[in-house]
Amino acid sequence: MDCIFCKIAKGEMTAKKGFENDRIVAINDINPKAKVHILVIPKKHIESVKSLAESDKDLIGELFLVAKQIAEMEKMEGYRLVVNVGKSGGQIIDHLHLHLLSGDGEAF
Ligand code: 5GP
Ligand code: ZN
Repeated sequence: MDCIFCKIAKGEMTAKKGFENDRIVAINDINPKAKVHILVIPKKHIESVKSLAESDKDLIGELFLVAKQIAEMEKMEGYRLVVNVGKSGGQIIDHLHLHLLSGDGEAF
């Protein structure tokens, strides 16, 4: 499948990974919209929130916990967590991801 985030997750495309475990990877956004802009991405290809299944519950919970962990790691005082859903909702990459945006703290 021709999906940028799947390729990054599989290591088929070079990206500096600031966090990685078996299920989730986090990278700096290529076009940051805040001082710190990190993308927290489940390795499983889920197209969007619209295609979430009951069985994805734990994964989505972990996505938020990882974002919290990164925010602590990178010393963010305050931050925004954003998920764009669907083309008209601002979603460009059709692989679910959580934006972690902050005016303070450090990028990877
Ligand atoms: P969306 O609009 O789908 O919620 O967010 C997609 C994000 O992915 C955008 O903020 C965009 O800058 C970022 N992005 C697109 N292509 C790449 C890439 O190849 N590498 C990285 N690190 N970020 C990307
Ligand atoms: Zn994908």
